[in-house]
Amino acid sequence: MLIVLHHSATARDVENIKKTITRMGFKPVAIPGAERTAIGVIGNKGWVDDTPFKDNRAIQEIIHVTKPYKLVSRDFHPADTVVTLGGKVKVGGRSPFLVIAGPCAVESREQVMRTAAFLKKTGVPVLRGGAYKPRTSPHSFQGLREGGLDILDEVRRETGLLVVTEVVSPEHVPLVAEKVDILQIGARNMQNFDLLTEVGRTRKPVILKRGLSATLEEWLASAEYILVGGNPNVILCERGIRTFETATRNTADLAVIPLVKSISHLPVIFDPSHATGKRRLVGPMALASVVVGAHGVMVEAHPDPEHALSDGPQSLHFRELEKLAGQLTALTAYAKKNL
Ligand code: PEP
Ligand code: MN
Repeated sequence: MLIVLHHSATARDVENIKKTITRMGFKPVAIPGAERTAIGVIGNKGWVDDTPFKDNRAIQEIIHVTKPYKLVSRDFHPADTVVTLGGKVKVGGRSPFLVIAGPCAVESREQVMRTAAFLKKTGVPVLRGGAYKPRTSPHSFQGLREGGLDILDEVRRETGLLVVTEVVSPEHVPLVAEKVDILQIGARNMQNFDLLTEVGRTRKPVILKRGLSATLEEWLASAEYILVGGNPNVILCERGIRTFETATRNTADLAVIPLVKSISHLPVIFDPSHATGKRRLVGPMALASVVVGAHGVMVEAHPDPEHALSDGPQSLHFRELEKLAGQLTALTAYAKKNL
């Protein structure tokens, strides 16, 4: 439930309403805004009885929120959320377009070091690399696991780059949160609610990928789990969804980007690598995501994609990443002025 107050409402009115909500066993969330002040009610499992507020003259309107998410919605938080990564890089709102790049999987110290050196040279601030790889087949490379985390930790210390990696099970969250700057929840785990709850307990930025067959509503409800836990630092990531089309690995749902931005205040980035599965489509789709308003991209790149242990066919060569980074810089400058 959302209680919208009149302009004339005083601080005392706000306090009284909050007290009533608390007395009813729910949690009040103040939502200050330029145009209106509102108080959200969270913690209810069903319909909230609004009788205690009926005759309150400070209240303009009571809106019953029937969607499975609240905190992620613009009703509860009208302004764009800007998430700060590693205390220095911002994503969301009017922040500069964020580029995250790196191999699908951490394979060796040398592979990650070579990638990091290239990213530094190219001005890419965040390195991606999977230590735990949730692969479709158990016969595929499963990642270096803890060894991979140590490599990422070492590389970020040596280079000053920020690092993101996927966390696949609730028990691993504290360790992974210690070793990297940003946690990733993969598409296959978007509805692993114990995992979402656990990353909600940290204050680390979380990239939440859209599930393979998840609707927009399900995706936002998953983000809600993390916010309800107390972690507001969520970045949504569209990575393609499953459709009848098999010509591309997934179907890139670029329309969801402006749509989700109209519903939610959270930053939204795009992963053109998993969305297409094809190296030659990665650049064009990354550029397209700028035009539809993405706040950044996450791209797979590898020093030797032909010999990558996972997702080689969709991983860019460094020269291709360099070209794309240049195009993104030019296009985002144009977009900022004209779109
Ligand atoms: C990945 O980023 O390497 C990955 C496994 O992505 P997704 O969860 O989107 O399939
Ligand atoms: Mn991958």
